[in-house]
Amino acid sequence: MEKDSKIYLAGDNGLIGSALAGFLKKGGYGNIITKSRRQLDLRRQADVESFFDKERPEYVFLAAARVGGIAANINYPAEFIYDNLAIQTNVINSAYKAGVKKLLFFASACMYPKNCPQPMQESRILSGELEPTNEPYAMAKICGLKMCEAYNRQYKTNFICAVLTNAYGCKDDFQTEDSHVIPALIGKFHRAKISGADSVSVWGSGKPEREFIFADDVAGAAVFLMNTYNDPAPINVGSGRGVSIKELSLIVKEVIGYKGEVVFDSSKPDGIPRKVLDVSKLNTLGFKAGVSLEEGIKKTYETFQSQEEILNSRR
Ligand code: GDP
Repeated sequence: MEKDSKIYLAGDNGLIGSALAGFLKKGGYGNIITKSRRQLDLRRQADVESFFDKERPEYVFLAAARVGGIAANINYPAEFIYDNLAIQTNVINSAYKAGVKKLLFFASACMYPKNCPQPMQESRILSGELEPTNEPYAMAKICGLKMCEAYNRQYKTNFICAVLTNAYGCKDDFQTEDSHVIPALIGKFHRAKISGADSVSVWGSGKPEREFIFADDVAGAAVFLMNTYNDPAPINVGSGRGVSIKELSLIVKEVIGYKGEVVFDSSKPDGIPRKVLDVSKLNTLGFKAGVSLEEGIKKTYETFQSQEEILNSRR
């Protein structure tokens, strides 16, 4: 990408998209197009086609998606498959028709089989059955990857696919049952500290292992890949460090300074037992995630606290 290249950032209001917007701006990329959900509903084919036809971006980051934690995936399977299939189908096909030079599609580590050998290598995609709690989301993401591959093969496009591990950061959703685990725990431990509650309930057994990457590192990796990676094969994007949910809850507890107990609620689902990516391909190419889990959680908590202050001042 040149600094004045026309770049369409789809999903700029989300966790990854907002980090990418900041990163691109800081990097001197000055010709970025964004559209709010109200201005352009990416599920509507005709609207997406006419947007691409009019704007003709050169580069596209496809970070728009319906995402959520384990409970959201279980409760809204139809929305997770429909919204994601519709958004990515419309954007990828319109990008081809509008002659986009390069597109980066964000896929997800959920695409790997439930019993995948760890750490998960790119070649393992479609080698076994999926984890049922997020199968609809994973199926949509697999279709996105296969669609990029098909367009590259038939139309000689340059559509690349980054397979993202669990991401977290300042633009997370901290409030609801639908959150991912890090923002959910930040919200829970913070509220328990403020209210003086004796314990915090963490879902599942505490044994599942997850890998996390800070959203700013995802943004760095995405720009790096857009500028250097031209292979149709998917590439993992992660930190490479696995932690158990128990370890994670102790880190969040420590950062927040909560003094009570952590209780595991085994009536809640664990999901996939281990989800840690093999990031050797990305690292060998020259990109390494730089923000440690402890540091990233601290930064995320600081943002959460400033948002809380604003909310409280309005109450
Ligand atoms: P997943 O990686 O697709 O399973 O998505 P999540 O980020 O929602 O959950 C990761 C793991 O954290 C699962 O084993 C959850 O059971 C566990 N977990 C523990 N407490 C919570 C919580 O309060 N919210 C969420 N979303 N997950 C939690």
